[in-house]
Amino acid sequence: MYQLNDKIKNLVPYEPISGTYDIRLDANECPVNLPDDIRAQFHKRLDEISFNRYPDPLAERLVNSFAEYYNIDPECVTAGNGSDELIFLIESAFLQKGDKMLVVAPDFSMYNFYSSICEVECDSFIKNENLDIDVDALIEKINRDKIDMVIFSNPCNPTGRGITRAQAEKLVSSVKALVILDEAYMDFWTESLLDKIGDYSNLIIFRTASKLVGAAALRLGFAVADPTISRAIKAVKSPYNVNSVSQAFGEVVYKNKDFLQNRQKNIVNNKNILYNGLVEIAESRQDLKVFESVANFVFMKTDCSREIWEYLKAKSIVVRLMGEYLRITAGTEHEVDAVLNALREFFSR
Ligand SMILES: *Cc1c(COP(=O)(O)O)cnc(C)c1O
Repeated sequence: MYQLNDKIKNLVPYEPISGTYDIRLDANECPVNLPDDIRAQFHKRLDEISFNRYPDPLAERLVNSFAEYYNIDPECVTAGNGSDELIFLIESAFLQKGDKMLVVAPDFSMYNFYSSICEVECDSFIKNENLDIDVDALIEKINRDKIDMVIFSNPCNPTGRGITRAQAEKLVSSVKALVILDEAYMDFWTESLLDKIGDYSNLIIFRTASKLVGAAALRLGFAVADPTISRAIKAVKSPYNVNSVSQAFGEVVYKNKDFLQNRQKNIVNNKNILYNGLVEIAESRQDLKVFESVANFVFMKTDCSREIWEYLKAKSIVVRLMGEYLRITAGTEHEVDAVLNALREFFSR
């Protein structure tokens, strides 16, 4: 009988929370669908697709539109089927047997998960009690342990904390390791290293259309790196990784600069309302710690995380439960109000 090998035999398929809820604040998505005028532009562009043909393997029109929005060289950009695909692809291609990878903790769990499938050694660098990265200590560890690749999210999912541009540059310029900065949430902050991509031969930055852009359904991610690394990524990816519908959508949406900038302001504003509301609730409670966030969600620590999670779920509001922590996405103003009211109710019982 066929036996599954050791590295996969105990794995289970990813299962997001099931059921329908009025308010979904568990996945850091954009809380609203796309407006009619962008959908209309997209529909028009859809009619130009030759559905019988394979997609453009280099997604040129999409990449150009993305690169123009972020004011970077399109030669440095590779499109992926969500950043998830790119994380797996780059870990498996840029590391080989015996190489050492480093993640930070807590952070996005997929980095570590894929490393186990790639069968590379993966170590963790633990953040301090404020959930910040001590960059000097991280540099020292990378160099001392001869790490080949370090990957983390900046801003961080789940903590909402981030390192500054100056800190990120210090890291990249102080190590020989390949540094991968997952900037999935950098659209909500100001400390991107995208404009420095040409200065470093050991840096890859990930971006995504799943958060600010609000197109999680279409799976669009991007790897940005110097031309040498970019060519290697393009060479190892599967040729038709991004389908023509997603390419067409991405090409359209990144041309709508004002729309994206307004959406950004709105979401950051709602995140601030959420954060300030949570801080106010936490003022009268010893057991509740709220972390200041530069992303589109807020992370908090509490002894009664599971009780709160259940309480909110009973009110048809879902947030993300992670041990003694909760991560709450900034939804619409109405949704933020609803979750804050429910939490006030919970704590006044
Ligand atoms: C949401 C998220 C992404 C985006 O992944 P996609 O596959 O592009 O949807 C990437 N990294 C982190 C840390 C995220 O939280």
